[in-house]
Amino acid sequence: MKRIRILVFNAALGVLDYRVPEGKPVEHGSVVIAPLGPRQVLGIVWEAERLSAQEVPESKLRPILEVLPVPPIPERLRRLIEWTADYYCAPLASVARMALGSMAALRGGGTTTEYRLTGMEPARLTPQRAAALDALQGEQASIKELAELASVSDGVLRGMVGAGLLEPVTVDLDRPYPRADPGFAVPELSEGQQAAADVFVEAVRTPRFAPFLLDGVTGSGKTETYFEAVAEALRLNRQVLVLLPEIALTENFLRRFEHRFGVSPILWHSSLKSSERRRAWRSIVLGDAQVVVGARSALFLPYAHLGLIIVDEAHEISFKQDDGVRYNARDVAVMRAKFEAFPVILASATPALETMQLAEAGVYRKIDLPARFGGAQLPDIQIVDLRQEAPERGKWLAPRLVEEMKARLARGEQSLLFLNRRGYAPLTLCRHCGYRFQCPNCTAWLVEHRFSQRLACHHCGHEVPVPEACPECGTGDCLVACGPGVERIADEVAEILPEARVALVTSDTMNTAEAMNEFVAKAENKAIDVIVGTQLVTKGYHFPELTLVGVVDADLGLEGGDLRAAERTYQQVAQVAGRAGRGEKPGEVLIQTRHPEASVIAALAAGDRDAFYAAEIEARRDANAPPFGRWAAIIVSSEDQAEAKAAARTIGGTAPNLPDMLVLGPAPAPLSLLRGRHRFRLLINAKRSAELQRVLREWLEPLQFPRGVRVHIDVDPYSFV
Ligand code: ADP
Ligand code: ZN
Repeated sequence: MKRIRILVFNAALGVLDYRVPEGKPVEHGSVVIAPLGPRQVLGIVWEAERLSAQEVPESKLRPILEVLPVPPIPERLRRLIEWTADYYCAPLASVARMALGSMAALRGGGTTTEYRLTGMEPARLTPQRAAALDALQGEQASIKELAELASVSDGVLRGMVGAGLLEPVTVDLDRPYPRADPGFAVPELSEGQQAAADVFVEAVRTPRFAPFLLDGVTGSGKTETYFEAVAEALRLNRQVLVLLPEIALTENFLRRFEHRFGVSPILWHSSLKSSERRRAWRSIVLGDAQVVVGARSALFLPYAHLGLIIVDEAHEISFKQDDGVRYNARDVAVMRAKFEAFPVILASATPALETMQLAEAGVYRKIDLPARFGGAQLPDIQIVDLRQEAPERGKWLAPRLVEEMKARLARGEQSLLFLNRRGYAPLTLCRHCGYRFQCPNCTAWLVEHRFSQRLACHHCGHEVPVPEACPECGTGDCLVACGPGVERIADEVAEILPEARVALVTSDTMNTAEAMNEFVAKAENKAIDVIVGTQLVTKGYHFPELTLVGVVDADLGLEGGDLRAAERTYQQVAQVAGRAGRGEKPGEVLIQTRHPEASVIAALAAGDRDAFYAAEIEARRDANAPPFGRWAAIIVSSEDQAEAKAAARTIGGTAPNLPDMLVLGPAPAPLSLLRGRHRFRLLINAKRSAELQRVLREWLEPLQFPRGVRVHIDVDPYSFV
């Protein structure tokens, strides 16, 4: 009999010892099922010397029940999991869990039945059947999924099976994906692109850690360039992971990928159907999956032979996860490349300051693409000082911007208005008594959405219909909308340019891949004149006829005053500006602001990126902020305000007094109420030399709190609310 140590997927239990029969060893990394009291738990066999467990005498050890039929989690991934848990002060089991797919994926095997059209076309059809026949061309899926696709009931489709219009097909759940072809459609690269591609290709051939920053202006063809690295990995039969910030970007990306390599890549994100998740996971683990395109959760999967990671739009803050394990996928991607010895490419037109600094320090190799592809020029950027060129009363677009939009419409060109605020208005109040609609669960106003005719909280999802009368004073017809959201801007455009075809692009209107595809197709076919959108429109798109970008309120992001406000504003505006003039016609950008003197606005207007980065880096150095110093936040919350406050005080009161660490707070969080929980924050500012994680653990681990209190550590925080 042999003792083995298992990391079980139960954060409270963590690590337990079991036994296996002598002569039947179980490899480290194996995924197993073990008994736990009357229940069963899933776990991973771990090196005993790396994890401490409660001492249990040999005689009490229970045997494991089953070793699941999947390859063991590789050693280098186990080391990455340990590093991540350690660095982000997260439970090891929570990190390890991100490597696994569903239970079904762990078992594998089996078949399922899907349905497809037979090709039969009867002369007479019910309208529903006719619609289904139309919608299901080329589709194959379960009855339930097809019914959803065609917007008809299951019953209609079952009837169609009976009538011979649909036929069942038996499919292997783990069937392989079609193979990508590195030579499918090789583009002709510009000289600069070719030089960059050559460097990447060479790096892919060399099994060594090599981090790159691909720093290319918007429209320079970063994607085409790193696709050459992907092609080389395909030729060498190494797997590639492309991390993208947002799932909305994926559709656009998939088309480009398919165009280059002949097939779709394998997708990995949180809203995959369970059959897709299982198939993808198995092919990743077994090594058949060639290229995986995914959101950050794709990062911890146990690829059989990963040889390249690309983090596209690497500056995006959505790579930072803000619940569960609070990790930054961009940074962990670099660590994974280091542990597994292969290249990683961070691509961006507006790199994060941290990334830029590492490139300047020579840690990352910086590869530049300074010019747009095909001779397109970067747009001309101008400032509209709202104090001097005020919009009409109750309007948000300055006369100059309106004139430029009219000119575009007359010429058949497109305009884009950017405002990073969903809904119609961020605040609704009663004209009579001053009552303001506030979320009962959060420190936040309710945002009016005209389309859905509801007031909604963007933090917790609380929603109410817009009432007829004020709930406080009962006066009818007295509610006023304060401030603009994108819906309100779209209304304003419809008023000024009644003949224009306007598209509203927000997460509320573009909530499915179909909606997104339809929008992109329309914009490309010039069936849209004006696009009004949130940050969803700032990246990835390439509409050659788009020649004007208006930034409705450049000051919006600067208000909160958090550490990265200026950087984020710079990135957002530069990214959205980058949508203009990507074709043959030159682009123009108008930035509306009340603070033209702010350094970030001035840098944008002057097109002086280097000056902005240089000034911002100096400011960070002075403040001992990242990347020079380090930050960590402690967030304390409870449904009971007094309890949360007391816990936060206990933490503040036991703070270590160290020369290389400053502890600020506790203070009520800006979002002091979130989803019904009262929140307090502490912020730690440490010198790079400080052993931040060790100090945090030794400080917090001995403390005891009431059951209702939650304490979260956020290392390298991006959110300060
Ligand atoms: P970026 O991501 O750097 O903003 P993209 O990769 O989106 O730029 O490229 C901008 C546009 O130029 C895309 O439509 C792309 O297909 C096109 N493009 C870039 N490089 C080439 C090339 N070498 N051959 C053909 N088209 C290219
Ligand atoms: Zn809320």
